[in-house]
Amino acid sequence: MKRTSQRLSAIQPSATLAVDAKAKAMKAAGENVIGFGAGEPDFPTPQHIVDAAIAACADPKNHKYTPAGGLPELKQAIAAKTLRDSGFDCDASNVLVTCGGKHAVYTAFAVLCDPGDEVICPAPYWTTYPEAITLAGGVPVVIDTDAESGFQVTIEQLDAAKTDRTKVLLFVSPDNPSGAVYPPKAVKAIGEWAVANGVWVITDEIYEHLTYGSHEFSSMPVLVPDLAEQCLIVNGVAKTYAMTGWRVGWMIGPVDVIKAATNFQSHATSNVTNVAQRAAIAALEGSLDDVVMMREAFARRAGIMHEMLNAIDGVTCPEPQGAFYCYPDMQGLLGRDINGKVATTTVELADIVLEEAKVAFVPGEAFGLPGYGRFSFALGDDDLIEGIRRLADLFA
Ligand code: PMP
Repeated sequence: MKRTSQRLSAIQPSATLAVDAKAKAMKAAGENVIGFGAGEPDFPTPQHIVDAAIAACADPKNHKYTPAGGLPELKQAIAAKTLRDSGFDCDASNVLVTCGGKHAVYTAFAVLCDPGDEVICPAPYWTTYPEAITLAGGVPVVIDTDAESGFQVTIEQLDAAKTDRTKVLLFVSPDNPSGAVYPPKAVKAIGEWAVANGVWVITDEIYEHLTYGSHEFSSMPVLVPDLAEQCLIVNGVAKTYAMTGWRVGWMIGPVDVIKAATNFQSHATSNVTNVAQRAAIAALEGSLDDVVMMREAFARRAGIMHEMLNAIDGVTCPEPQGAFYCYPDMQGLLGRDINGKVATTTVELADIVLEEAKVAFVPGEAFGLPGYGRFSFALGDDDLIEGIRRLADLFA
């Protein structure tokens, strides 16, 4: 008999974390490594949110179990914030508070998928999606996109991927890792396709506030109201409020689905940490001023990184439209002599770049689309410029 279950043994180690682990080990050994791997804002959490958490720590009512589905005040705040920010009208009974957006993603697949149910998952995809789908018993059906198509799936591709077993379409815009933002027309067309085909949509809105230039976030069930009964929205405070470590996210959906997911959570985790939930209330009820400040910094860095990457011979970088990632095509660097080493894949390229230039990026293999690399611009301007300059020098 195997020591670990087949289900868990099948999980792939995260390639994102592998690069990160090597970069951290080199840093610990005293090397001056610049990391473009992390998908988290470099800013501290805004002070008024931290203050709310400090006050919450001192209040004994937060020392006890609270409802598994989330504090009623937080669910209310999430419903109000959703109406304010995306225009989607829901109430507290449509909300489940989870341990971060990642937990909401897993819960969403777990509550919808029976064994063998297919989930359409456009690539490049965030590393967690296929693993979460498989763990939940679903089968990921990957659709490839590329820079030419703006990393956006078409209705024709969806038609071709659909089978009798298709249960869910996974949709995320702004996207990790490509930085793509679907225009409202495309969001609407995809939502209408889902309604017409009886397919659920899990829409990940975690980067809703991080869009640049003329690109704007739009919420699928707002543009296609008929979708609401077959749609789960995933979101959280991590990216918008620089709160990755606080672990508060949520899922919004029809009441019957939220009830089933809440039952699941009541056995798996009980309530999310009350102190973090109180901090999330302060975040959601507060102003968006800090968010605007952070978005401006990200927009500036996006511009710098985009331009510097494109200036490297062999690299083609589409304009990042949202989130905080550039996702350049790096195939032009494969097969080249790099200080006596040659990379034939972007995994090998990432390794050589880390060793030779002390720069960490995540190879496209981690996101189901080899030949590309993900560079986060959620780090300070000086490091960002120095890191891409090192890359440019290596390939000069
Ligand atoms: N969705 C996407 C697309 C993400 O990039 C992330 C974080 N990398 C999450 C969800 C989850 O965020 P968290 O669990 O930190 O709330």
